[in-house]
Amino acid sequence: MSDYVATLLANVKAQNPAEPEFHQAVQEVAESLTLVLDRHREYRQAKLLERIIEPERVLMFRVPWLDDRGEVQLHRGFRIEMNSAIGPYKGGLRFHPSVNLGILKFLAFEQTFKNSLTTLPMGGGKGGSDFDPKGKSDNEVMRFCQSFMTELARHIGANTDVPAGDIGVGGREIGYLFGQYKRLRNEFTGVLTGKGLGWGGSLIRPEATGYGCVYFAAEMLAARGQTLEGKTCLVSGSGNVAQYTVEKLLDLGARPVTLSDSAGYIYDEAGIDRDKLKFVIALKNVRRGRIAEYAAQYKTATYVPADPTLDHNPLWSHKADCAFPCATQNEVLGKDAANLVRGGVQLVAEGANMPTNLEGVHHFLQAHIMYAPGKAANAGGVAVSGLEMAQNSMRYSWQREEVDDRLRVIMKNIHKACITTSERFGVAGNYVAGANIAGFLKVADAMLDQGVV
Ligand code: NDP
Repeated sequence: MSDYVATLLANVKAQNPAEPEFHQAVQEVAESLTLVLDRHREYRQAKLLERIIEPERVLMFRVPWLDDRGEVQLHRGFRIEMNSAIGPYKGGLRFHPSVNLGILKFLAFEQTFKNSLTTLPMGGGKGGSDFDPKGKSDNEVMRFCQSFMTELARHIGANTDVPAGDIGVGGREIGYLFGQYKRLRNEFTGVLTGKGLGWGGSLIRPEATGYGCVYFAAEMLAARGQTLEGKTCLVSGSGNVAQYTVEKLLDLGARPVTLSDSAGYIYDEAGIDRDKLKFVIALKNVRRGRIAEYAAQYKTATYVPADPTLDHNPLWSHKADCAFPCATQNEVLGKDAANLVRGGVQLVAEGANMPTNLEGVHHFLQAHIMYAPGKAANAGGVAVSGLEMAQNSMRYSWQREEVDDRLRVIMKNIHKACITTSERFGVAGNYVAGANIAGFLKVADAMLDQGVV
């Protein structure tokens, strides 16, 4: 690491205390950018990385609401408007009790590079709340969403900031948020993405992150003359991204064998087939149950409850060819990365954002396996959100095949950008450096063009 980057990281830690996830994300990107900043002094002189690290605007607000018993509940809402150099702020909303400023800043920072990689005109943003939709009635979720949007509505707009879903924010929540925005502003615009198909949503948006992640994995394999056919795959999570990752893996002839939630994971030696996936989708999206029920339903599966005293997650110790972490940040630790490599995994494609910690990333890079960081592999979600914005602007909807084809081309292009950029900077095959540098260059050049703002 250069002295410049070391000093920059020390300053980030001093100025943003108690935000370990944000420090981690900045460190990973800054380490890759050493290669660029040493060659291009103009970026250093313009303090571009320093400016990209500092959000353009941070909004933090009170979200009071009444539960079904009539009691007042109180949560905290956030929106990080990180970078608008190449387009309106764009990035999801997360509702989860772990949400805090540092986690949303890390997500918004990552989002800036990811959105740049998609080649679409979208800046970086992220937001959410420490509200937990789990165990709440639909009416409670609606009242929370309405209160959240009552404040957020003053800050967003179809040409300013366009939020979407993330953990805990799916079709139901986007519906309530959109309804309240429309009521407050008296306008029907593409202010949110992930909308319902009947009111401005795009076909393939729900599937996009999972499908895109698998398309990216297929590209990595194709570059080595391989396919996903017959490959055994470990998948974590069981929400939106995990579900459509499994579906596309099945389409391409692979054999997914695991899924998880925050309480534990299931391992199904026989493979998770389409019927079992259908069960999971109903379990998670309709009944909102726990993944443990999968093992009760299918005798070929075993359920392993999460054990917080362990220094690793046994899900990643199973023998497999590929791994798709699709739950949350830092779910693959150094020891897990070592276990994955030992278990024969040759490819890791991240559906989640920053699921692998820095030690794990270094382990994958040293083992020279195919490792795609989230900002490249899961960019399909925001890419189709960008396509939803384009359709809304035209007041027109594309067919399923058309959106899917565009998604496939975008993932192919992101893969190509990672490869060519890593070659150009002398680290061929390193997708982390390729994604970070390619994402940075477009934003940095736009900021240079736009002056010191
Ligand atoms: P969902 O809420 O649909 O699903 C999240 C899944 O991860 C659930 O199975 C959840 O289990 C599990 N999970 C969440 N937090 C934890 C935790 N602390 N420990 C263990 N498991 C956990 O979210 P998504 O599928 O949309 O998002 C998953 C990941 O993908 C996130 O990192 C998100 O940022 C990223 N992503 C999502 C995109 C999208 O389009 N939705 C786009 C790009 C990235 P439980 O139900 O028990 O909480």
